Amino acid sequence: MSIVQNIRKIRASIPEQVKLVCVSKFHDDATIMEAYNAGERIFGESRVQELTEKYYRLPNDIEWHFIGHLQTNKVKYLAPLVFLIHGVDTIRLAEEINKQAIKANKIINCLLQVHIATEESKFGFSPEELICTFDENIWSKFENIRICGLMGMATYTDNTEQIRAEFKLLRSVFDKLQNHPNLQDLSQFKILSMGMSDDFKIAIEEGSTMIRIGSNIFGNRNC
Ligand SMILES: *Cc1c(COP(=O)(O)O)cnc(C)c1O
Repeated sequence: MSIVQNIRKIRASIPEQVKLVCVSKFHDDATIMEAYNAGERIFGESRVQELTEKYYRLPNDIEWHFIGHLQTNKVKYLAPLVFLIHGVDTIRLAEEINKQAIKANKIINCLLQVHIATEESKFGFSPEELICTFDENIWSKFENIRICGLMGMATYTDNTEQIRAEFKLLRSVFDKLQNHPNLQDLSQFKILSMGMSDDFKIAIEEGSTMIRIGSNIFGNRNC
C-alpha cells in the first residue's frame, strides 16, 4: 500500500478528535511530502539535528514534534523550532527547556514522560515520582513551559493485556493530575500521547488523545 492509502486506513480507524503524529524519523523529504500532500501537518522526529534540517527544508506550516530522548545540551537547537516536546523526563531537562524558551522568546509546549513499561531502557518519571513533583509544585516555576499533558510507551510485547494495563496506568495518572490542586491551568493539560503502530488501537480504547505512528504509515525504517 502507498503512504496515502496507509494514512487513509489509519484515519478511518481512529476518532476524529485523536491527533495523529506522523513519525518521519529516518525518512527523506520526498517521503514526508507524500504524507504532507495527503493533508498531514504534524510530524515527529527523534533526533535534534534531523528535525532542524527538515524544519528548514520543508513547508513552514508543519507542526514539528520532538518524540525522542532529549539531551540538555541540544535543547538550544530545538527551542526556536519545536511545537511540542513529548519526552520531558527530568526536572533538569525542564530547567534547560525553560531557559532556552526564554532566550527564544516563546513558550514551549511539553509533555511529561511517564515510565509505564517493564523494560528498563524506557525513560520517564515513575507515576509516584511524577505526582510528587506536582505535590511539590515544581512545574509552576517554569514560566516559559506549558505542560500540556503526558506521554508514555508501553512494553514491546505481544501480550495485549499487559499493554492495556500499562496504558490504563498512564490514564489513571493523567486523571489524577487533572484534578491536582497545583495544576494551575487545567485547560492546557489535555494531551495524553500514547500509542504507536502496534498498539494504537488499545491506546485509544484506554483514552489516548494523540498517537505517534511511524512504520504503519511509512513502512519499515532502518532502525
Ligand atoms: C519511533 C517512535 C514511534 C513510532 O513507532 P512505530 O512503531 O514505527 O509507529 C513512536 N513514538 C516514539 C517515542 C518513537 O521513538
